[in-house]
Amino acid sequence: KLVVVGSSNMDLVISLARIPAIGETVLGGSSSMVFGGKGANQAVAAIRCGGNVSFIAKVGNDLFGENMKKHFEKEGFNSDHILTDANTATGIAQIFVSDKGENSIAVAPGANMKLMPKDFVPFHNLIKNAQVVLLQLETPLETVEFIADIAFQNEVKLILNPAPAKQLTESLLKKIWLLTPNETEASLLTGIDVIDQTSAQKAAEHLLDMGVKNVIVTLGVSGSLLCTAKGVKYFKAFQVKAKDTTAAGDVFNGTLAVAITNGIALQDAITFASAAAAISVTKEGAQPSVPFRVEIDKFLNS
Ligand code: ADP
Repeated sequence: KLVVVGSSNMDLVISLARIPAIGETVLGGSSSMVFGGKGANQAVAAIRCGGNVSFIAKVGNDLFGENMKKHFEKEGFNSDHILTDANTATGIAQIFVSDKGENSIAVAPGANMKLMPKDFVPFHNLIKNAQVVLLQLETPLETVEFIADIAFQNEVKLILNPAPAKQLTESLLKKIWLLTPNETEASLLTGIDVIDQTSAQKAAEHLLDMGVKNVIVTLGVSGSLLCTAKGVKYFKAFQVKAKDTTAAGDVFNGTLAVAITNGIALQDAITFASAAAAISVTKEGAQPSVPFRVEIDKFLNS
C-alpha cells in the first residue's frame, strides 16, 4: 500500500489578455475551477495509474471542501481520510494566465496548514503497515517530520518531494529513502546552483552526504538524474508537444511512488514516471492532465 499525505487546493484559474496590474481591472477573461494542490495531484496520479493508495488531507467546512470530498470518492479514495477543519477555509490557489502564457499565482493554504500530528492518531497503523509513504511540503513541517519518524521507525520507504522549496534539517534528511527535488529545490537545499546535469549530480551527491538514501533531481524537459550509493544515472525526458507543464512533477512523483510500492526497480520506475509526466504536459490543468494507466501503457508501447 502507498500512503500519500499532503495538500488539496481548489485552483481558480482566470485566463485573460494580460495579468492585471495593481489597481487595474482587466475584463474579458474566461475562468475554470480545477482540483489541484501538490498532495492531491500526486495522490490522483498514483490512483489513476493503478496504485493501491490512501490519501490523507484536510479541507475546510465549505463548498470547496464538500466538492473535494466527492471528487476524491469518485477517484476511488476512502473519504474518511479527508479531514475537515471547522474554522478554516479550504486551500485555494488563485491563478492568472495571460495570452502569452505568463502566470501569477496567489495561494491561501487554509485548512492544509491545519493538518497536524494529532490528526494522525487514527492513521498510525495505516502508515506503519504501508510499503511507501509520499509527502510534500505544502502541509506543516511539523507534520512532515512526525510522519517521517513513524516511517523511519517502521522501515517504511519515505519519499519526500521537497516542494515548495524549503530548508530541511539533517535529522529529517536522514530519514528519507528517496528525495525528489527539481532544480530550484535542489539548489536551495544544497547551495549549489543547479542548472544542468553536472551541477545536478553535484547537488545530489551532496544530499547523499547529508544522509538521504537516494536522490532523483528532476530537470524538466531535460529529464532526470538518479543518484544512489551505487552511482549516477541520467534519464532523458520523453519528447512531446508541451502545452502546460503544471503538475508534471506531481505526476512524476505519484506514479514513481506506485511503481516503487509494487517492487519495481528504481530505474524502471523512473521510466514509467517520466512517461506519465510527459503525457501530463500535453494537457492543461493540474488534475485534469493526470493520465490513467491505459494511456501510460499505450504511450510506452507506441
Ligand atoms: P516540477 O514540475 O516539480 O518542476 P519538472 O519540471 O522537473 O518538475 O518535471 C518532472 C518530470 O516531468 C521531468 O523529470 C520529466 O521527466 C517530465 N517533464 C517535465 N517537463 C517535460 C516536458 N516539457 N516534456 C517531457 N517531459 C517533461
